[in-house]
Amino acid sequence: MDELSVIHADMDAFFAAVEMRENPDLKGKAVIIGGKSLSNRGVVSTASYKAREFGVHSAMPVAQAKQLCPDGIYLPARHELYKEVSKELFFLLKKYTPLVEKISIDEAFLDIKGCQRLYGSPLEIAEKIKKDVKKNTDLTISIGLSVNKFLAKLASDFEKPDGLTVIKTADIKKTMADLDIKKIWGIGDSFAKKLNELGIEKVKDIWPYSLEELQKRFGRAGVKIYYLSRGIDDRVVESKNEIKSISHEETFAENIEDAEQLLAYLFKMSEKISFRLHSNSLSGNTVFIKLRYADFKTISRQKSFKFSLDSTKNIYQIAQELIKKDNLFAEPVRLLGIGVSNLHDSQQKQLNLFEAENDNLDNTIDDIKRKFGFDKISRARKLYLKNDE
Ligand SMILES: [Mg+2]
Repeated sequence: MDELSVIHADMDAFFAAVEMRENPDLKGKAVIIGGKSLSNRGVVSTASYKAREFGVHSAMPVAQAKQLCPDGIYLPARHELYKEVSKELFFLLKKYTPLVEKISIDEAFLDIKGCQRLYGSPLEIAEKIKKDVKKNTDLTISIGLSVNKFLAKLASDFEKPDGLTVIKTADIKKTMADLDIKKIWGIGDSFAKKLNELGIEKVKDIWPYSLEELQKRFGRAGVKIYYLSRGIDDRVVESKNEIKSISHEETFAENIEDAEQLLAYLFKMSEKISFRLHSNSLSGNTVFIKLRYADFKTISRQKSFKFSLDSTKNIYQIAQELIKKDNLFAEPVRLLGIGVSNLHDSQQKQLNLFEAENDNLDNTIDDIKRKFGFDKISRARKLYLKNDE
């Protein structure tokens, strides 16, 4: 528990830093990255450190940023470019340990317990990662090194940009005492307000409250802040590979006999799975289906491929083939399920043409779903059926 074994690695002002690397004239300037298309109605995705001096920060409306920083350089986000750099970053991080938990495009937790014989002390590993990232991407990363995820994340923020901060067990109390309570994970504005009403402003103000009292007042959130305010956090670093499969199944209110209707369900589920794979940057080599009939007889089929897949089209087509092959829709179906397993990070996925053609359509649809909710859009299955014939 008190071993320095968790690293939180976080690139500094990532999108803005990448733009500066691409165009050195921007270095040291107030650079503000908006969304894909830069409009006043959008929000800031990243502000350079210079722009932050004007009070501009991410998630702020672009219109407001322009008031605060009228002379700033406003650029649309170039996600494809940032994704490429992100790939490089994760490739580097995974050299040190397989236990890399991706938090976002430029941020990860690393469990370095197992790699010290190979790469040295925890501090040496942190230093090596920083050098490695700088050398290979020409960008800076800030690292927090501590005994758990919460403290590591807290630490990475202390000396940004280009920081390296260690919080040892012996330093927890001293480090946390005077921090604003909003630095505790899960304390947002409204929870902070409630705590402020009790006179709790800093982390140390939480300490006099017993676990029971906090729990009584705030339920599970109270328990959480009791422990986190003391730097106690039991969550482990989980790499994506530990998700074994992504699947979806549905039990119908009434058994369904109509094969067309069942295929429509199958398609909808394929879309959901594709969406979840993309959201987690995963793809898989195996597609499986599961059926339960009126008499509760349950069967499953699966098919594996050398290449990995994540698109709605591929998942649906393979599932459909599995159904057709054994004529599985010949009797009324009570439950229908579909999934993808043998998962891995899709950033490592080998390029194959079968996949590439659909990526753009899926990405666009994923974006719309994220924005408007899942049910707002579902492609006409016809679109695919047409291609098949
Ligand atoms: Mg960052």
